[in-house]
Amino acid sequence: MTDGALARLRERIDALPPLREVVAEAFPARKSLGQHFLFDLNLTDKIARTARRPGASAEAPLEGETVVEVGPGPGGLTRSLLKAGAYVVAVEKDLRATEVLAPLVAAADGRLTLVTADALSADWTALAPAGASICANLPYNVGTPLIVDWLSGPWLPWWASATVMVQREVADRIVATPGGGDYGRLAVLTGARAHATSVFDVSPAAFVPPPKVWSSVVRIDPKPADDVPLKALERVTAAAFGQRRKMLRSSLKSLTQDPEGLLAAAGLEPTERAERIPVTDFIRLAKVWQEREGG
Ligand code: SAM
Repeated sequence: MTDGALARLRERIDALPPLREVVAEAFPARKSLGQHFLFDLNLTDKIARTARRPGASAEAPLEGETVVEVGPGPGGLTRSLLKAGAYVVAVEKDLRATEVLAPLVAAADGRLTLVTADALSADWTALAPAGASICANLPYNVGTPLIVDWLSGPWLPWWASATVMVQREVADRIVATPGGGDYGRLAVLTGARAHATSVFDVSPAAFVPPPKVWSSVVRIDPKPADDVPLKALERVTAAAFGQRRKMLRSSLKSLTQDPEGLLAAAGLEPTERAERIPVTDFIRLAKVWQEREGG
């Protein structure tokens, strides 16, 4: 897109009615869909910038990128993504979005595709070209299942990075390291397949209506290589964290008749507890379990 074309697109978007007006008239928030909207375009611009690739220009940080957004709602973050130069594929469950976002679709002039669908059953590879980025203010009730789904697919995944706003408590569980109470299955899955960083926190006051809890924007970048036995890792972490306070020789009894032999073969102390085991050790344990038990 030329500088002039991007400038005109930004002018068209800036000429749209303010989000507060759009919501008051046609999109009152529905609790059942986890609707908490962002009206502060400085904040949505900041979230959009967080999704950029290394080396992207400051003027048009998402120039030429395809970005998948889950839950555009009235379109605050969508406006920022478009103004940053992205093509946007927006997946929204609320049928009211079709009418409410029609002026933004028109202003975007072919750069915004709205798909009315449930993101939990979306066929992502049919919706987005390989190498697309994800950027979304995720609805609280579906945030974790979506992230788990994205991290559990065939590798390399269809997405190049995921920049998502989630409850801060979920962000803490995504980026947790061994030794703390937040470290569990989600951190192991994330660490096995990606690098994740919690980039900044957002106060409840930034949303309309305000949620009860703080949120965080997390950026997840897939690791390129993958020799992770994912199914085995799921089984091993389910057993280990299912009884997280117990020693592994005890918690792994649900997985194998010989936990001590399995742990010895993986080079782990039988007296260790799940919350102290680094991701690399969990991957080794999963591989050894798979070899020994054909899991
Ligand atoms: N992006 C807007 C913003 O930042 O102001 C809205 C974010 S709001 C937290 C979450 C959005 O996700 C809502 O628009 C809601 O309707 C939508 N949503 C909820 N569940 C969904 C689902 N299963 N699939 C797709 N969209 C969903």
